[in-house]
Amino acid sequence: MAQKILLLPGDGIGPEITAEARRVLEALNKRYGVGCEMETAPIGGAGYDAAGQPLPDETLRLAREADAVLLGAVGGPQYDALPRDVRPERGLLAIRSELGLFGNLRPAILYPQLAGASALREDVVAGLDILIVRELTGGIYFGQPRGIRTLDSGERQGFNTEVYSESEIERIARLAFAAAEQRQGRVCSVDKANVLESSELWREVVERVAADYPGVELSHMYVDNAAMQLVRAPKQFDVVVTGNLFGDILSDCAAQLTGSIGMLPSASLDEHGKGLYEPVHGSAPDIAGQDKANPLATILSVAMMLRYSLGAGEAADRVEAAVGAVLEEGLRTPDLQGGNRPVGTREMGEAVAGRL
Ligand code: ATP
Ligand code: MG
Repeated sequence: MAQKILLLPGDGIGPEITAEARRVLEALNKRYGVGCEMETAPIGGAGYDAAGQPLPDETLRLAREADAVLLGAVGGPQYDALPRDVRPERGLLAIRSELGLFGNLRPAILYPQLAGASALREDVVAGLDILIVRELTGGIYFGQPRGIRTLDSGERQGFNTEVYSESEIERIARLAFAAAEQRQGRVCSVDKANVLESSELWREVVERVAADYPGVELSHMYVDNAAMQLVRAPKQFDVVVTGNLFGDILSDCAAQLTGSIGMLPSASLDEHGKGLYEPVHGSAPDIAGQDKANPLATILSVAMMLRYSLGAGEAADRVEAAVGAVLEEGLRTPDLQGGNRPVGTREMGEAVAGRL
């Protein structure tokens, strides 16, 4: 049966980069019979323009029906003056929570051809390939009680609560262990168990889950040390699993190790393997519509979609190999260093599709 993919181009460079991702999917359909049916719907500013909402009802309906969703990016200066509840970014938050996307996967891979772009010494990062698994719908970002209260003294106090239940910890841990089984078989769980009770429970549950994955080696690290180790010796990690707040910080940190914002894909998964896939970067309004945007982060998000939602690991490998091949040939969009063949968004997409 054909798999249904919903494309949400969004704003800024979103339409340009998703068009190239679509080209890659069409090439896979044609050459390898991958069998994806694609549909397109508006989100973000485009959703507001089309239907007065950053997440139109029809877009949400199509997203619920789809096997996977591929998003470009949302937002842009023309929407900055809108009321908070209809800002483009709200569309993204809404679709994540409506679809119950609790697990955020962010690989940080350094392509050998781009090694010089990293902030770190080449020997420290050469061959870097780590996967950060961040819990996305719990923890201190959502915990109750929260608010700003006025004390008897008249002083105001802001407060949030870090809450994790066993089931929330268990499902994110399972996601991390399952991913590690397909990689180097190592999970490092990051917490602050020396200070926080929520982390104490986190550690206990992760240990329990580990027993179901005898082929995976588990280690634990405090978040402060993990931040240090990520920039000191990042290659020691395979899969890092952590909560919402720590994961937010560590995944941005890991992303910078590669030095190329235009190369970083991400996945957000629900409990049934359905996912929303998107580049880590934003809508880049400064270069929108100029055929300058790097489409590779979105194309690599397609590879993640094939692997994690569509059960097409081989096609995923093909896409990743094609990206490696075009970099090896020296093709570079303006954001990438080195190479010998400057190209635009479209030519880069065509080259990857041609290399599959
Ligand atoms: P957001 O808040 O949506 O994350 P942002 O303001 O953090 O957005 P981006 O939109 O990611 O930032 O853009 C940051 C810089 O990186 C900009 O100069 C942009 O042009 C550049 N950039 C982002 N994505 C790409 C891409 N795919 N190709 C080339 N340059 C990019
Ligand atoms: Mg940003």
